[in-house]
Formats: sequence, C-alpha cells, structure tokens
Amino acid sequence: MLHNIRIVLVQTFHPGNIGASARAMKTMGLSDLVLVNPRCFPDSEATRLAAGAEDLVDNARVVENLEAAVTDCVQVVGASARLRSLPLPHFDEPDEMARALVENAAQDPVALVFGRERFGLTNEEIRCCSHQVSIPANPDYGVLNLAQAVQVLAHEAFRAWRRRPESGYRPALPAEDRQPSREQLGHFHDHLARVMRRSGFLTQPHARTEAQLQALFARAQPSRRELSLLRGLLASLEGQLPNE
Ligand code: SAH
Repeated sequence: MLHNIRIVLVQTFHPGNIGASARAMKTMGLSDLVLVNPRCFPDSEATRLAAGAEDLVDNARVVENLEAAVTDCVQVVGASARLRSLPLPHFDEPDEMARALVENAAQDPVALVFGRERFGLTNEEIRCCSHQVSIPANPDYGVLNLAQAVQVLAHEAFRAWRRRPESGYRPALPAEDRQPSREQLGHFHDHLARVMRRSGFLTQPHARTEAQLQALFARAQPSRRELSLLRGLLASLEGQLPNE
C-alpha cells in the first residue's frame, strides 16, 4: 500500500533537498521518488544527504513535466503553503488528506507533489493535481523547507497507514467504481474541450473556462463508470455536429 504512494519533487533547485527528501521518505516506509526536471541530478550532495537512503536516490525516475510523473495516479495532492485561485478540493488538515491517500493507495497509485524552493508550483502544475494540502503553520512564517515538508506529509501517510482498520478504510472497489487515473481524466477533458469548440460554445481555446471545468470535475470526483457515461454523452452530442 505504501509502495503506491509516490513523492514527486518538481524542479528542485538544491540537490541536497532531493537527498534529504529521500531520507525523509525512507524513514516513513515510502520508496517511489519521481523528480520532475531537477536542476542538478545525479549529484554528490543528493547522495550525501540521503544518508542511508541512497537506494531511493539511485532508483528515482526523472521526467520532463508533472503530467508525465502522475498519469497513472488516481489522486494527486499538491502541497502548497499558500492558496491559489484555482478552486480544487483543499485539505486544511494533513491527517484527513493522508487518510484519503491511504484509502486510494490500497488499490491504485497516488502522488504527493512538492514545488520548487523559490516559487512552489505553477498554476499549470496545480491543474495537474486533484487536490491541494497545506501544513498548518505559523501565519507569519509558514513556509517549510522542502525536505521538511516531505517529512511531515510522509509521516502523516505512515500514521494513516499504521492506524488503518484491519479491513482497510473501505472495502476493495471494483475497477468501475474507483477513481479514474489522471490520464483517463485528461482524455475526458480533451474530449469536452473538442465538443465545446466544435459546437461553437467556445470559438477559440479558452484556458480559464477549461480550468474552471477541470476544477468542477475534480470536486465532483467522478468514478470511472461515471466518466465513461459522460464520454458516451459527449460522443453522442458530437455525432450530431456537422463534419469539420
Ligand atoms: N516559496 C515557495 C515555497 C517553497 S517551499 C512558495 O511560496 O510557494 C517548497 C515546497 O515545500 C512547496 O512548494 C510545498 O510543496 C512545500 N511546502 C512548504 N511549506 C509548506 C506548507 N506549509 N504546507 C504545504 N506544503 C509546504
């Protein structure tokens, strides 16, 4: 179950933070580390600060962008000290986030995403997430060091896993009742965007409208079955449109 919980570090500047994050993960039983476009990796400083968790650093996957890091995940939680304008579902309490994460991780991969030391996650990256979480902290000084933020949330995940009821938080669900992967959700949004454009609802791509609809569906959390119902509806509407 913990093996399904991935830690994603986006464009980390200091390689030492990668090593310290790997150490934080290993102490909490996590092992799946993905690095999005790190500034400097592999690096001796990363290995040095891993201090016994070099295996995680050595096995870390490096990818080009956040989308590639999380396509197979059914839940992607962006860690952010500040609230952004995008109305994604937000966990104010990390333990509530961790419970949901562990619940999903029983059957599918999930991810916790951490931003850059200097400016966190971009709005575009937050759009790749299904949820956001903040670690409650001093209102006057509430931004943690990257690896320490990883430690706090990895610890919450470990606690939720340790305290899970014997039968799990919920019964195993058949595939159709589970959350779609980010890739499946992405296909749905592409389809929706195409129908909006072809029907004349949007005359040109409109990122703001698309972002609002993405946030709406993120809050609704459709199952795979519900998503294929919506895809069927879109396909039927699309069939009524004149050929392009
Ligand atoms: N200066 C950046 C924060 C960088 S800290 C900003 O203002 O956005 C590096 C990363 O650590 C953040 O992107 C976030 O993923 C995590 N982090 C730091 N403090 C956090 C907090 N209080 N809650 C949740 N995540 C936090």
